[in-house]
Amino acid sequence: MPINNYLHKQYLILNIINHLGPISRTELSLLTDYRPASVSAIVKDLLDQRLILETGQSSTGQGRKRTLLEVNNEHLCAIGISFSSKHITYIVSQVNGVILYQTMSPLLPGSPKEELIQKILAKVSGLLDMFGNKKLVGIGISDPPYDPAVYQQTDSLIANYTHFNSWVHKQLKSQLEALSGLPVQTYSGVTMPAMAEQRFGVAKGVQNFICIELSNGIGASICCNGMPVGGEHGKAAELGHTVIDYSVTNQKLCYCGKPGCVETSTAFPALAAKISGALNQGVLSVLKSYQDLSDGITIQAIRWALDKEDQMCMYYVKDIAIRLGVAIANAVNLLNPKLVVLYGFMLELGDFFLRHLESSIRENVFAPLKDFEIRTSNSTETLFSLGAVAEIFSFYFKQENYRWVYQLQPESPDEKVIAQDTP
Ligand SMILES: [Zn+2]
Repeated sequence: MPINNYLHKQYLILNIINHLGPISRTELSLLTDYRPASVSAIVKDLLDQRLILETGQSSTGQGRKRTLLEVNNEHLCAIGISFSSKHITYIVSQVNGVILYQTMSPLLPGSPKEELIQKILAKVSGLLDMFGNKKLVGIGISDPPYDPAVYQQTDSLIANYTHFNSWVHKQLKSQLEALSGLPVQTYSGVTMPAMAEQRFGVAKGVQNFICIELSNGIGASICCNGMPVGGEHGKAAELGHTVIDYSVTNQKLCYCGKPGCVETSTAFPALAAKISGALNQGVLSVLKSYQDLSDGITIQAIRWALDKEDQMCMYYVKDIAIRLGVAIANAVNLLNPKLVVLYGFMLELGDFFLRHLESSIRENVFAPLKDFEIRTSNSTETLFSLGAVAEIFSFYFKQENYRWVYQLQPESPDEKVIAQDTP
């Protein structure tokens, strides 16, 4: 639906406040070239709708103080839903990424999709009641990325929703829209971590970056020139299934059908298998005195051994860090990012692992591309549903029409003095 001139102005002002707020009416007028009276009228409209708030006053050191405006963080919220092979995660998040509610419900493979849709509708119905006093702007759904369990269970329900145009995108979407009266959007899971980090996390304001998942699988999520990279079919960034060790012939095949891919040689199960194999062969290790290995080698057990400078664990963790570093360096060579964001439970291996990973990435990157940062994510469990929330807010703000706004640099706090308690 085309938006008229007034609505266009309103969205522009809302996007500027969202990105640069707290900001004064005078600054809005200067940035947009709209007359002060027009800006005041639009701001009044946004205040009446409770989309923004007056939050304090700026002091420029000259003239009178200016009232500052910012997005109404506590009022504007969205629902995010994501799927893994074992769970459905639901969150309700504020526009600033503060999560007000989160829960996971188990997903049993093989249950009929109608039953599952009814469960999801019931859950969302409860959330609509619980957050009835908020302005819910929409529901974002992250399409599940591949994982081994999904890939192998071709007959199961789960396999049926790993593709676009499946029931999530048609039946679930339309039934949720009918139930809630809200916009419901589905997104490719491969872009969700990047979108979450860009709006709420450590990649705020960064236009080119890669997120790398280090867990039971190795995954990537890419943001290029400010935009998520989903690829032709929403399945881009399969860094985990690029082959880095083509000489391997006796290693077990990955579910991607190849030996020697990044995932089979560096994900947590590969590390656990190597350590467990060494223990079985009688290699000396403090792990033999670890309290409980009845469930196999855990990340906590390896970390415990690393903290005790166990030579065997240090050897295998370093080996995996070096291999992972090669793979990530290849991705850096391909994309020239400003930032690499690491997430996933393998980060619990701690400094020893991260130190070797970082030095391997830097040693293997082509020198002209070496100017980038490496950071770790602050959220892991909710990254996919938070990505869906990030995207539903972009949809609500019609952000693609105002992309230039998001390239403006906010003033540093030092330059802006805010008196929070002044009316
Ligand atoms: Zn593979």
